[in-house]
Amino acid sequence: MPSADVVGLYSCGPTVYYFPHLGNMRPYVFADTLRRALRWKQIPVRHVVNITDVGHAVADSDTGDDKLEVAAAKERRSVADIADFYTRAFMTDMAALNVLPADRYPRASEYVEQMIEFATRLQERGVTYQIPSGLYFDTTKSDGYGTLALMDIAGQREAARVEQVEGRRHKSDFALWRAEEPGARRVMRWDSPWGWGAPGWHLECSVMSMALLGEHFDLHTGGIDHRELHHVNEIAQSEAYLDDGDPWVRYWMHNEFLLLNNAKIAKSSGPVPRLADLVEDGYHPMAYRLFLLGGHYRSQLDYTTGAVDGAQTSLRRLLSRIEPLRPLPVIETYEQARAALTAIADTTPADADADAGTDDAEPGDKTALDYLELMDEAISLDLATPRLLAILQESLRDQEITPAGLRVIVAAADALLGLHLNDLDPAALERRRSTADLDTAEIETIERLIADRTQARKEKNWPRADEIRAELDRLDVQVTDTPTGPSWHLR
Ligand SMILES: [Zn+2]
Repeated sequence: MPSADVVGLYSCGPTVYYFPHLGNMRPYVFADTLRRALRWKQIPVRHVVNITDVGHAVADSDTGDDKLEVAAAKERRSVADIADFYTRAFMTDMAALNVLPADRYPRASEYVEQMIEFATRLQERGVTYQIPSGLYFDTTKSDGYGTLALMDIAGQREAARVEQVEGRRHKSDFALWRAEEPGARRVMRWDSPWGWGAPGWHLECSVMSMALLGEHFDLHTGGIDHRELHHVNEIAQSEAYLDDGDPWVRYWMHNEFLLLNNAKIAKSSGPVPRLADLVEDGYHPMAYRLFLLGGHYRSQLDYTTGAVDGAQTSLRRLLSRIEPLRPLPVIETYEQARAALTAIADTTPADADADAGTDDAEPGDKTALDYLELMDEAISLDLATPRLLAILQESLRDQEITPAGLRVIVAAADALLGLHLNDLDPAALERRRSTADLDTAEIETIERLIADRTQARKEKNWPRADEIRAELDRLDVQVTDTPTGPSWHLR
């Protein structure tokens, strides 16, 4: 259990039934900025991000199939395989985006016994009722239900859910335990006092956060969509469970939506791009991170190809400007940066002949110290990353700052931004051409060459096949032979 000096931070994690898309990344880059800000202030943190591998039903509802079971049936793989595979995909994206790893990534399926104990205590407290579809939390028994979402409680109780559940007393009541329907055996199932079944979705976050961070903790983050339902329900059940009159969590922080061409992702018709799609199109993950940090976490941000293209160009320019300053010093905290800047002032020539007793600091270092204060103010002001980026740009244009001072400022900015300013090669930001950049004539040429190559191979005309392969190489075309014929993409 963490000590009282360590900030407990819980971030609602991914449901690992499919690849995470670009919108799914925003909550973690936001939580990462918060982590970096706490590190900057020398506040130790214990960070927990859950992995939802059971309990999350399709459409966030209380009845119906689990997202993972649906995915397993569709992909003809086991639920465990699905969970492992998409957990790895999530971790790969987190690493590519330079998100600091959490201390723990608990899996919901490993905490079902504790969830049953938790629901049992709620039942003993008289805030639940049982119906054929499971055990439900009676939200009228929760004082201040919905306060987090600034809800009109009566309105919310009636309007929150469209789903019809037989026997549910109020529309805002939610499942703690989802009992198996007769004849519909679940894949992931546990025995409980309320019959065989699976936990409700909201239960896992209350149980795992308390298990790993203590009954009360400091910070809970998540996407704004959770503020209306998931977090409201987490609070209701946790405060009923603890029943000590204290707020369960001290601070809640929510990031706004990422929009896709000005529309909510949930309402978008086509597939939502993933980080891998962006990379395939010639963009660097750090360009996407810069795009996210360019908006404040509490503002909606509109994703367009043009916007990420712009971010890639500005990151390349930023890196070209920073490259001559490398190597950068290692800075993680405000105090380290301040100490480094003060040390520069102590060794400057102006100070060397200051035995006479003048205590004027060297002006260049004074400039750097001013930038450090501005950066500290920006991150302290509700994580104002757009402001932080503007201060960094300004310091790079400033003629008054010394190179040593500038190196510290850039390193300090990157401690908060996490953009790999210390080691990313600007050349990695040169956008490669992708299939989307080819015109019809170029695509026709490539497809004709591939057809000729297939023909040559069929005729066992190996010299001709090799000749075509060389021609395709010259065009940067990578051909892969598959059972259904050759496929290609640009290298
Ligand atoms: Zn949660």
